[in-house]
Amino acid sequence: MSKISIPFLDLALQHQALEVELEQAFREVLDARAFVLGPFVERFETDLAAYLDVPHVVSLNSGTDALMLALKALGIGPGDEVITVPNTFFATVEAILQVGAKPVFVDVDPQTALIDVTKISEKITPKTKALLPVHLYGQPASMEPILTLAKKYNLAVIEDACQAIGSEYRGRKAGTLGDIGCFSFYPGKNLGALGDGGALVTRSPEIAEKVKKLRNHGGTIKYQHDMVGYNSRLDGLQAAFLLVKLRHIDTWNQARREIALHYRSGLGQLKTVRPLQMMEDRISNEHLFVVQVASENRDRIRETLQSEGIETGIHYPVPLHHVLRDQGLDSGKTSFPVSEKLSRSILSLPMYPGLLPSQIDQVVGLLSRGDLF
Ligand SMILES: *Cc1c(COP(=O)(O)O)cnc(C)c1O
Repeated sequence: MSKISIPFLDLALQHQALEVELEQAFREVLDARAFVLGPFVERFETDLAAYLDVPHVVSLNSGTDALMLALKALGIGPGDEVITVPNTFFATVEAILQVGAKPVFVDVDPQTALIDVTKISEKITPKTKALLPVHLYGQPASMEPILTLAKKYNLAVIEDACQAIGSEYRGRKAGTLGDIGCFSFYPGKNLGALGDGGALVTRSPEIAEKVKKLRNHGGTIKYQHDMVGYNSRLDGLQAAFLLVKLRHIDTWNQARREIALHYRSGLGQLKTVRPLQMMEDRISNEHLFVVQVASENRDRIRETLQSEGIETGIHYPVPLHHVLRDQGLDSGKTSFPVSEKLSRSILSLPMYPGLLPSQIDQVVGLLSRGDLF
């Protein structure tokens, strides 16, 4: 194994720059002994609400629980169907299954890898309760047609914005357009805690109130349990770290956009390596930079990059209807050819603020090598 010279993600750079502030945040939480919920969590919720321009933020222990509690708060459970995509992180579908509902898949657009809005209505049945689009790799899904369909069929819209903090759709922040938006602060996300974290955002005071209870054993007052809930709270320590990092998110997202532009201009000449399409009415936070190559070459390209010290990823290698099928779970009988093809042809290139232009050129240079194709 050769040494990694360009990692897929490098958080050390970010943490070195913030070391003093993060250590101070740790001290403050220690001194205040505010370890679970409490003042740091409240401040983080207030700051995130201001950043996203949304009235209610309920911080949680993870993005997965944000999705699960979103469904719970809407009363979705056994006998209900939720429409989503097969090419997302497993957590999207896990949340639907955790509440006892059935995931119903819609294939994606081959250019953007986002939900194909022309294929949603044929999947709507009397059991459908919600649409759960995923803002994959940071690019928001086509929210306007999704919201129009939701209105027509009286469905809730839950945005999986776990990868899309700071992204925008027609001037509005991803995660604030539907009934509920779900965010993750897993360390590798654009706004990452030093551990797990998540948040649910909404314009509805009723939903926010219910989720505040659900995250804390069914109540907001100690030993008063209004319902059967969960332990899905955010730590004070993570909130304090996130407060430090939230101040930098726009700078980091901008740095990622510049890196994406650099990749795009470098790869522009190649017919063999095609970045996903970006729609003009949205701004991506460029969480991942994903290209498509011929599926028969993908694994070899990956190995060659690895042997040159360049790490890549695949998001995601197995479409989720196959994951469910392999577990003996019902995922409907249909096949999803676009998602299946994407799973074999996608490759995620190194992407993080601090990735140098010379390093991008090095990746592009390797991808331009004729012997790879
Ligand atoms: C990260 C992620 C999640 C889950 O978030 P966690 O905080 O890791 O639980 C859900 N959906 C998508 C699309 C994600 O990328």
